[in-house]
Amino acid sequence: MAQRTPEKRREEELSANLCVPLRLCVKSSPPASKAGYSSARAKGLRLLGTATRRLSSFCILPSAFPPSRVAIAGGGAAGFFAAIACAEAAPDLEVVLLEKGPQFLSKVLISGGGRCNVTHACFDPREFAAHYPRGEREMIGLLQRFQAADTVAWFESRGVMLKTERDGRMFPTTDSSQTIIDCLLGAAKAAGVKLHLNRGLAAVTKHPDGRFELGLSDQTTLTCDRLLLATGGCRAAALGQVAVAFGHTLEPPLPSLFTFHIETPWLRELAGVSVEPVELSVPGTSLRQRGPVLLTHWGLSGPAILRLSAWGARELHGFNYCFPLRVNWLPHLTSEALAAEFDSRRKTQPARLVANAPLASLSARLWERLVRASGLPGDTRWAALSRAGRHQLIQQLQRTELPVTGKSLNKDEFVTCGGVRLSEVNLKTMESRLCPGLHFAGELLDIDGLTGGFNFQAAWTTGWIAGNALACL
Ligand SMILES: Cc1cc2nc3c(=O)[nH]c(=O)nc-3n(C[C@H](O)[C@H](O)[C@H](O)COP(=O)(O)OP(=O)(O)OC[C@H]3O[C@@H](n4cnc5c(N)ncnc54)[C@H](O)[C@@H]3O)c2cc1C
Repeated sequence: MAQRTPEKRREEELSANLCVPLRLCVKSSPPASKAGYSSARAKGLRLLGTATRRLSSFCILPSAFPPSRVAIAGGGAAGFFAAIACAEAAPDLEVVLLEKGPQFLSKVLISGGGRCNVTHACFDPREFAAHYPRGEREMIGLLQRFQAADTVAWFESRGVMLKTERDGRMFPTTDSSQTIIDCLLGAAKAAGVKLHLNRGLAAVTKHPDGRFELGLSDQTTLTCDRLLLATGGCRAAALGQVAVAFGHTLEPPLPSLFTFHIETPWLRELAGVSVEPVELSVPGTSLRQRGPVLLTHWGLSGPAILRLSAWGARELHGFNYCFPLRVNWLPHLTSEALAAEFDSRRKTQPARLVANAPLASLSARLWERLVRASGLPGDTRWAALSRAGRHQLIQQLQRTELPVTGKSLNKDEFVTCGGVRLSEVNLKTMESRLCPGLHFAGELLDIDGLTGGFNFQAAWTTGWIAGNALACL
């Protein structure tokens, strides 16, 4: 009779003792060193692909009720990433993805103006995490496990190349969000994920044996061993009710990433003008942002406005979105520098109309409106600019006060701030600290980022971590 190897003997003993089949759970890990990413990026992102395929650890786990079933509610970015990670790491698990709507990945489709801003080219977890008004501290640890470079490598290893724009945003080279959808759908199918449309999670009961019974919107039920909630931002309170039913606290959901309504007529007449950079602040608060703004026919938009709305999501809601906005149109110039420039113009171009002589980065139209808004008569020439007039003009350029009277959704990207309280979630596994077997990922959590690919990265990161944890059921 052939000799049995020690490994074989141990496997047989374990199997016999437990009287259950063994399941091989393969946990993959992202690259240990991020140092090479910047140079790899410089050489082309193709280099990144190989590293993430490295397998770091193997664990052999007993499975009491084969095949164990993991159910994932929510067919968005986080749900798909979790489902794929789980099914790839534990091929004998049954992974069921339940989407309540008629379409998977509907937000991915419309994201980034139809191009899908997948992530941001920033490969230092700490620096990356600084882009999350809610969840910054927690994202540092989460990104140390799966960060932007891992996302790039993940997609690249599945044939999707990403490119970086000047501002750091990363898009598929096809400039089409459909590429990302096709990749995620293909990977899920290849990994054996069971995909269901029009089957939303409506109710959940937890049995004493730890399993969950799901009541679904198509009037069927499904039992699972583990449940992942990846149902997206809970703008309507009902969307967070499953988490609440298991004792979780929802940080109040509020919009983030919105633009400002400003009635001021001269501003609206300049719709389409962009100014870079300006400094924005909200008097009486510590809110302050510097960057480009876009004048629109309803008020102000652009990166600096969106950042201010994200960092101030709660405070600005507290003002019912009615507050004064202070704008410094020339933040790189001090009042002294402006005064010196005006004095020099008095001498060098005394006969020229002030309104016709724009300064620095300001367009002729904006300059002319600002001069008029400062109260100077339109026919004032530099020679006739009094001390008081000079002061008025400097005040207007550095401290224009615009009354914000409301907000509009930014059609390119918006997210919900608030969601499941992070202290109630074990961030190593994304499992509930209150209900074992229940996991969370994506925008449902109280994590939200600035525009630029940070919100999808939170979905990829939390989905990947949750999916790998679920694989070790
Ligand atoms: C217009 C727009 C553009 C955006 N562009 C970008 C961008 O370019 N880059 C970026 O980083 N971020 C962008 N975002 C933000 C980004 O889309 C979200 O942060 C991200 O989609 C969150 O992923 P998620 O999987 O957590 O949630 P979602 O994508 O919202 O997916 C949740 C899914 O769960 C389903 N669902 C809800 N309830 C149930 C239930 N009870 N049962 C089953 N299924 C359920 C929903 O139908 C949905 O399909 C954009 C957002 C918007 C609105």
